[in-house]
Amino acid sequence: MVRVRLAPSPTGTLHIGTARTAVFNWLYARYQKGTFLLRIEDTDKERSKPEFTANILEGLSWLGIDWDEDPLIQSERIEEHRSAIQTLLERGLAYRCYASEDELTSMRDNQKAANQAPRYDNRHRNLTPEQESAFQAEGREAVVRFRIDDDACIQWKDLVRGAMQWRGADLGGDMVIARRAPADQIGDPLYNLVVVVDDAAMEITHVIRGEDHIANTAKQLLLYEALGLPQPVFAHAPLILNADGRKLSKRDGVTSINDFRELGYTAEAIANYMTLLGWSVPEGMDERFTLKQAAEVFSFDRVNKAGARFDWDKLNWLNAQVLHDWTTPQLKEALEPLWLAQSWSLPDDPSWIDDLCQLLGPSLTLIQDGVEQARPFFTEPPLEADGEQQLNQDGAKAALSALLGGLEQSPWDGADPAQAQAYLGAAAKSAGVKKGVIMKSLRAALLGKLQGPDLITTWSLLARLGDDRARIKRCLS
Ligand code: GLU
Repeated sequence: MVRVRLAPSPTGTLHIGTARTAVFNWLYARYQKGTFLLRIEDTDKERSKPEFTANILEGLSWLGIDWDEDPLIQSERIEEHRSAIQTLLERGLAYRCYASEDELTSMRDNQKAANQAPRYDNRHRNLTPEQESAFQAEGREAVVRFRIDDDACIQWKDLVRGAMQWRGADLGGDMVIARRAPADQIGDPLYNLVVVVDDAAMEITHVIRGEDHIANTAKQLLLYEALGLPQPVFAHAPLILNADGRKLSKRDGVTSINDFRELGYTAEAIANYMTLLGWSVPEGMDERFTLKQAAEVFSFDRVNKAGARFDWDKLNWLNAQVLHDWTTPQLKEALEPLWLAQSWSLPDDPSWIDDLCQLLGPSLTLIQDGVEQARPFFTEPPLEADGEQQLNQDGAKAALSALLGGLEQSPWDGADPAQAQAYLGAAAKSAGVKKGVIMKSLRAALLGKLQGPDLITTWSLLARLGDDRARIKRCLS
C-alpha cells in the first residue's frame, strides 16, 4: 500500500515548486490507489505562521489536490523527535559538540585557504567526560551531532534518477541534529532528523520531493539505518528552471501560486502545466489533461532527470484552452467579481451578463483579459487611431448617419440578428457604400477601434442598454 506525503514548511505562501511536488505525490498516490498525506513542518518557530499554513492548504484545494487524513503538525511531535536523538546518543551514534561559532568560522576559513571544501572536522567526536565538563563549565552551548563515517557508502535506487551513490566523506562531516542542547537536555531537533522520525511514524513508503533534497536523502538514509527504521523508496523530481536555465527563485517574480491566480490563470491550467514540468505524457495522450486523467497513467518512468524550464507560452496556451472550454456560468463566476471591482454597474438583466461572458470567452488567454475586453461594454471607449481612420473613409459617416436615422425611427431591441443585418443593408444602400464599410464603421463607433469580438453580438449588447445610438451619434458630431 503506497503512502506518500507532502511536507511543506509554513514559512511562506504556496510556492510553485512545492505545488509541483504536491502534484507528483498526489498523482502517484491516486494512480497506486494509495494514501496522500500532509505534514506541516513548522519547527522553525520564528518563520512559521498559521496564515501560511492556511494559504498552502487553500492553494492545494484550489488546484484540485485533496489529502486523505488531517495534516500532521510536526511541532506537536517534538518529544518523539527528542527521544530518537536520545536513542542515538545512548548508542554512541550521536554526541554533543561544543565548538563555538568563532571556532567553526576559523576552521572553515582555514579549509578554504587550503582549497578544501568546507566541512565540520568532527573535532568533538571523542571528547572525554572531563573535556565535556570543562566546556560546560565555560557555559558553552552545545549542539548534538550525528556521526557520519567518511567511508560510509550510501546507495539507493531512485525512481527518477536510477542508481544513486554518495560517500559519507561528501556530506560535510558529522551533522547537527539538534541545536541548543546543554548536557541535561536534547535541545531543538533539526530537519533531517525530524523528517526521518516522522516519515517512519507515518509509514511513508515513497518520499517524492525536489532534486534539491538529494544530499538530505543521503543523510536521512544513514539516520534510518542508525535508528533501525525501514527505509522508504525515494524519487527526486527535477528542478523548475527559469528562462536562463537557472533554478526558478523569488527573483523571477512570479513563483507563488497566489501570483499565478491573481494574474488570471485557472487552477486547471496550472495543475496541468505543473504536471508537464518534469513529466512527459505517454504516446497518444494529449498534453492538455485534468489531474484525474493524468492520475490514470502517471509513473516515474516518464519523469525526466533534466531540469524543467518554465515556459510561459505553453502555460498561456493551456490557460486559453481551458478558458475557451469554460461554460457561461463558469465564466460568469470568474468575471463578474472582476467587473464589480472596477465599480462598473452591471445591468439587472442576467441574460445580458451571460451573453457578454459567452461573447468574450473564446478570446481570453487570462481571466483578467476579461476586464479590458469588457471595458467598452460598461464605459464609453475612447476613439482610437484606427477607429478614427475608418470613420474618415469615404462614405463612412454618411452610412452611419443613415443607420442612425433608421434606428431613431425604430430602435433595434438587440434581439433578432436578421433585423440588425437589415438595418445595415438599408444604411449601406442609402449611402451608396459596400456593406463592409458600414460594418467596420459601426464597429469603430461602438468600440472606438477596429478589433473586437463579433459585431452583431457586440451591437446587440449595447442596443439592449440603449447605448448604441449615442455612440454612433458622437462620431457624427
Ligand atoms: N519541509 C521540507 C521542504 O519544504 C520538506 C522536504 C521533504 O519533503 O522532506 O522543503
